[in-house]
Amino acid sequence: MLLDECEAAGVALELNCRVGAVRRGERFVLETNRGAFESETLCVATGGLPIPKLGASGFAFEIAKQFAVPVTPTRPGLVPLTFSEADLKWMRTLSGVSAEVIARAGKAAFREAALFTHRGLSGPAILQASSYWARGQSIEINWLPDAEDGVLAKRKRERPKAQLKTVLAEFLPERLAETLLAHTAGEAQQEIGASKDAALIDLTRALKAFALTPAGDEGYAKAEVMVGGVDTDALSQKSMEARAAPGLFFVGEATDVTGWLGGYNFQWAWASGWAAGQAL
Ligand SMILES: Cc1cc2nc3c(=O)[nH]c(=O)nc-3n(C[C@H](O)[C@H](O)[C@H](O)COP(=O)(O)OP(=O)(O)OC[C@H]3O[C@@H](n4cnc5c(N)ncnc54)[C@H](O)[C@@H]3O)c2cc1C
Repeated sequence: MLLDECEAAGVALELNCRVGAVRRGERFVLETNRGAFESETLCVATGGLPIPKLGASGFAFEIAKQFAVPVTPTRPGLVPLTFSEADLKWMRTLSGVSAEVIARAGKAAFREAALFTHRGLSGPAILQASSYWARGQSIEINWLPDAEDGVLAKRKRERPKAQLKTVLAEFLPERLAETLLAHTAGEAQQEIGASKDAALIDLTRALKAFALTPAGDEGYAKAEVMVGGVDTDALSQKSMEARAAPGLFFVGEATDVTGWLGGYNFQWAWASGWAAGQAL
């Protein structure tokens, strides 16, 4: 469909064509491995830094710098988070286990699945939160998103002989329930096992606001998007043309627009490309 549309509009496609440098005299001149191309206007749609293996490059930022168009600091987004050896000691055995949680980073919170990996945490809730996380900050995980504070105490009263981990496993995968309990309750578990309501309420609260400090993230090799990019304040919001360099446009992932999971990044690439296309 896209090729048909391109043909109808008279688009000339140049495949396997690497742009090495851009110059500007009277017109833009692109130096490529297939020769030089000249044009009145230039739209930079070379994406961002995620997944270098797929050809990602910082080329858009080189062009931005060359034409004095500001770029905001970049970092990986929608990316799995990694943890230090101290955390991995208890997390690693859970690799492959997932649960529905609310993951919070800064002011953003996402209710979706979290997945333990052999390096830390992933899954949609974590990927979403990662775009709002900054190094050194902690994230907060609510492992019991539907539970009221008193729920474990109530369930334990109803089943006094049941082990606490069995009660908790009504809400979470068994292995996760057991590990979280050991990690959160620690030595107080004996006391909690004796059905102290207050201790069980404290435990529930702790599991609903479970703070973890990621050591880092899996980087651009695993990131689905990039946070930051060509500063949108430096672009016309109607046409994506750079204010500092008339005739030069930036669209898509190269710009400082970061979408949530769910197709918003593709949407932005197409929508900003369309906007620039109207003005070229
Ligand atoms: C693994 C993964 C999964 C994703 N899943 C989703 C999803 O489910 N939903 C969603 O909305 N978004 C998703 N995204 C994000 C989405 O793919 C991007 O936001 C979108 O493709 C950006 O489009 P773009 O045209 O700006 O850049 P790109 O699609 O990155 O295209 C840029 C192109 O420019 C080329 N290029 C770079 N430098 C040069 C050069 N010097 N000369 C010539 N060509 C060059 C690159 O090779 C590339 O082909 C995902 C991204 C990744 C990495």
